[in-house]
Amino acid sequence: MAPTTAAGSTARTAAATAPTPFAATTYAAARSRAHGPTAALWHAVELHRPAAEVDGACELSLCGSLARVAVDEPWPPTTSDVCGACTTLAR
Ligand SMILES: [Zn+2]
Repeated sequence: MAPTTAAGSTARTAAATAPTPFAATTYAAARSRAHGPTAALWHAVELHRPAAEVDGACELSLCGSLARVAVDEPWPPTTSDVCGACTTLAR
């Protein structure tokens, strides 16, 4: 009987943009396997997980090849055998 006109308290929770530890795109160096005439190269892999989780894992590099992540190696690597496509894409 009581008119319960509960004025909807607009509890509009603002979409909290939780700060992620990887706000900026982080790249890790990953070593591909030599196949055919192509020598093993260092590729760039975009890190979406903590480096400890991807260490030694095979990830898809920026240029589309599979490479094993080596978090010990900084990106860009200091060596000369670096994938040119990944170097361009990881900028
Ligand atoms: Zn590459």
